[in-house]
Amino acid sequence: MKLGAKISVSMILLALLATLLAAWLAGFTIRRSFDEYVDRNLYYRLDGIRTVLADYYLDKGSWTDVQTVFDSLQLKGHGYGYYGGQAGPMSGRRANGSAMVMGMGSGDVLLLDANGSVVASSDIELLGKPVSEASIGQSLSIKVNDAAVGSLIVLNLQKGVLENEFINSLNKAILWAAVFAAIVALLLGMLISKHLTRPLAMLTNAASRLAGRDLGYRVPVVSRDEIGALAISFNNMAETLERNDRLRKNLIADTAHELRTPLSILRGNLESLQEGVIEASPEIIISLHDEVMRITRLVNELQDISLADAGELRLNRRSVSVDELAEKATLLFSGEAKQKNVNFQVDIQAGMPQIYVDSDRIVQVVLNILNNALFYTQPGGSVKLSAVLQGDSAVFLIRDTGMGIAPEDLANVFERFYRSEQSRHRAGGGAGLGLAIAKGLVEAHGGKIWAESKVNEGSIFSFSVPVSKQTAEKNNITI
Ligand code: ADP
Repeated sequence: MKLGAKISVSMILLALLATLLAAWLAGFTIRRSFDEYVDRNLYYRLDGIRTVLADYYLDKGSWTDVQTVFDSLQLKGHGYGYYGGQAGPMSGRRANGSAMVMGMGSGDVLLLDANGSVVASSDIELLGKPVSEASIGQSLSIKVNDAAVGSLIVLNLQKGVLENEFINSLNKAILWAAVFAAIVALLLGMLISKHLTRPLAMLTNAASRLAGRDLGYRVPVVSRDEIGALAISFNNMAETLERNDRLRKNLIADTAHELRTPLSILRGNLESLQEGVIEASPEIIISLHDEVMRITRLVNELQDISLADAGELRLNRRSVSVDELAEKATLLFSGEAKQKNVNFQVDIQAGMPQIYVDSDRIVQVVLNILNNALFYTQPGGSVKLSAVLQGDSAVFLIRDTGMGIAPEDLANVFERFYRSEQSRHRAGGGAGLGLAIAKGLVEAHGGKIWAESKVNEGSIFSFSVPVSKQTAEKNNITI
């Protein structure tokens, strides 16, 4: 069943249920109030007759000829009833009008003497006949000087003739109301379902377009309700998918581009060697080896990137001292710095606590940044590695006095394969993956990485890692 049909059917059922309930409740309440009214009314009327009859008895000393009083009271006519017995649908059970209609209830009024014999009746036929207890509707005893001289009873009291009529006409009205409510419910249901299903249909269409790789398609956000929120989430998802798709395409294109250069150098040199154009001199072999190392480095970096992407960078965390980390990095770096005549200093804040990290990975981050710093710093310049405690994080800073980074490049240096225009023109350097990998590793530790720089003055690359295991766990990091 379609959503629209479901809504319409529910609305109609609800409308019918509500009207039925209203009909039942109204019928019940009306019937009860009518009954109470009839009983009360009947009592007052009988009480009036009782007074007349008691006076009669007091006057005559017996019930002789009391039927004339009954007749004069016109009990079968309009006298005490609201409605005469002669005509109309509510005239009681007898067409000849013998029944008395009393406040919307009808029945025969009888006078019994002290022995229980019928001495007067609104219906002459009942005179002298026995009265069955079961048919007595109401009974009032008549007393004269404190002695019971008879009783006034109503036989075959039929309540609710008028009441039934009233309820029937009410039910008819309610039936019409139900039909009307059902039609309104149907129209409303159609309106609501159209209102609801239109954006859903748009979302379904957008989802199929997305599945068909139309990643640029966005669904219009037409409402501020839950469906609007769904449309916004859908668009965000489409945005992420499109960005990831772009990144994936770029990654493949950039990888191919980065591999092409060393491969063509290798191919060119190998062909020249084959053809005997050049000789396999030690210099040629070293240059071929350099190119192979470049490819190896690129492949390793790509592997790190793909692991970081998949969230599968396995960190082998343990508590290590910052000094120990700095020493490792210094050992691997200071020789190159000396070779390039760049002054290298290390300054670790005294009393730094141990940090809970994968030391190899953090050394890799420090070396990636240090190598960049050395690469972009002229001989005679300086590179400094320092570490300080900030809150519950250890912050590493690598300062250089190199060429600096232009503001437009600074925002992108952590992107994959990003190299500034200047560094593209320089020989050497990596494929633009070093800082992207550093970022992935630092973030996998629950830390942050950032850079500040001034062109021709130098750059400061900083990153933080949480000191304690607890903070690392708090940052939701898999350990
Ligand atoms: P690469 O592996 O090519 O060095 P990185 O991701 O490490 O790639 O760096 C990206 C780009 O950031 C570099 O190409 C360079 O333009 C710029 N860069 C990084 N570090 C420095 C620095 N210390 N001084 C100047 N430019 C830098």
